[in-house]
Amino acid sequence: MSKLTFVSKAPETSIFRDALPWTILIVDDDESVHAMTNLALRGLKFHNRPLEILSAYTKAEAQQILLEKDDIAMAMLDVVMEEEDTGLQLVRFIREELHNKKIRIVLRTGQPGQAPEKDVIARYDINNYKDKTELSTQKLFSVTYTALRTYSHLCELDSHLRGLQQIIETTDSLDQEHSLKKFASGVLAQLGTFLKVGDGGILCVQQTNNELNDDRILVMTTDPLWLEENLTWSTLRVRPQVRDLIYRTFETKTNQYDTEHTCLFIGKANEAGMVAYLHCPSPEELTRVLLEVFCTKIAISFHNLRLYKQLEEANSLLEKKVEERTQELANVNERLNQLVNTDPLTEVPNRRCFFDALTREMARLSRSLTSTFSLAMIDIDHFKSINDNHGHLIGDKVLQEVARRIAISMRQMDILGRIGGEEFAVSFTGTALPEALQAAERLRLEVAGMPVTCEGVSVHVTISIGVVEVKTEEGITTLMSRADKLLYEAKHTGRNKVCAEKNASRI
Ligand code: GH3
Ligand code: MG
Ligand code: MG
Repeated sequence: MSKLTFVSKAPETSIFRDALPWTILIVDDDESVHAMTNLALRGLKFHNRPLEILSAYTKAEAQQILLEKDDIAMAMLDVVMEEEDTGLQLVRFIREELHNKKIRIVLRTGQPGQAPEKDVIARYDINNYKDKTELSTQKLFSVTYTALRTYSHLCELDSHLRGLQQIIETTDSLDQEHSLKKFASGVLAQLGTFLKVGDGGILCVQQTNNELNDDRILVMTTDPLWLEENLTWSTLRVRPQVRDLIYRTFETKTNQYDTEHTCLFIGKANEAGMVAYLHCPSPEELTRVLLEVFCTKIAISFHNLRLYKQLEEANSLLEKKVEERTQELANVNERLNQLVNTDPLTEVPNRRCFFDALTREMARLSRSLTSTFSLAMIDIDHFKSINDNHGHLIGDKVLQEVARRIAISMRQMDILGRIGGEEFAVSFTGTALPEALQAAERLRLEVAGMPVTCEGVSVHVTISIGVVEVKTEEGITTLMSRADKLLYEAKHTGRNKVCAEKNASRI
């Protein structure tokens, strides 16, 4: 015999906790029928709950009570009252207007001819039809008892239906929870509500399907007493009995119950799963079936969560790889750019790069972003004889050292380039001729000031320089050939000097 509890853990968890006692309604215009019924049913208890008998003498009174109370288990209706079919009108009111399908209806009539049993049973949704003369104390008792039993079954079914609905709604919302922690507390909250035990469950998540290993079980809990960061299987403070039960659930991959504890396995047979522990005794059969449905649905959500996590990991790995590759490519590009633009021996900008820079300077001038700039063409004096006297290797070292000395004597914004064998050029940004001449002189002195020493050889090196200030209307070629002319002039007038157009003299 089924008990009238949704979860058979303790009487106070009954869904009827607040609905004691059973309410039945007697509708009859004959006072003696009420008295007789009360007498007959006095002391009746069903599942330890007594009866509460409400009386109505008219259709209106009956309707009022039915409107106010939706937990009436049974109504005994007289057929003929104000009208010949008042009882039948009330049946229609209950079933069609109130849509109350659970209440058990027993029709009682003193004039069976008015409402023939066959017709009434066929046409109206009633559960019993009795001739008033038939209703002895014994009969009334069994009619009521039977009605209450059916009503309690209906309530139970209704409750489980609501449970099932809850499962469906719950797992839909779980699907949207992508973080494991949120998912875990969602699962525990739903199970707690379902089993009417509130917060306080534990969820153990197995990381891999291999051997059960302490470190591979993540433990999450909603119990305020156990709320700890990084709770592990070994630090979990529970009784050995609970620990064993959880362990057994993992091993058998089936739900485990005992008189105090419920352990549910959530997962598929062939993969790592999780175990939800709740402090409540083994539920009744029907609830267990519902729990299995619940667990299966959660397992699907959990599986999706794992897939989602894997996808997320794969995505971030891919993103990281793409980022690394992009960085590598950027580095290679930068290196390539450097190679294309740099002179490998002296590591200063090469001819191409210098020409590009000069083109940009010209463009800035034409857009009036700069008012002027000057160009110096530089050539090492008698470099051939350095090569001839000391060898090419020393020649190379001299070239490197001259480039270095020029570079350190320039301002940062000026541009140096190696434009030929032992020829260099410097563009003095935003600089008019007088300052450019001074700057060129500084370069000359830096080179000539001290011999270049390498491999035990000391070489005295000088440079000749031709300097011009740009004219707005000229192009690069004209500008360079003007500077070149002045360089030749420096060569022809003694070398180791700076020449400019105006006085073409050594400063
Ligand atoms: P001038 O004072 O008139 O400029 O005389 P110069 O000897 O410097 O001029 P010339 O043009 O006769 O000789 C330049 C020499 O520079 C010839 C060439 O072999 C040498 N040279 C050019 N590039 C390099 C290089 O990369 N390394 C070395 N070691 N020598 C180079
Ligand atoms: Mg030279
Ligand atoms: Mg030369």
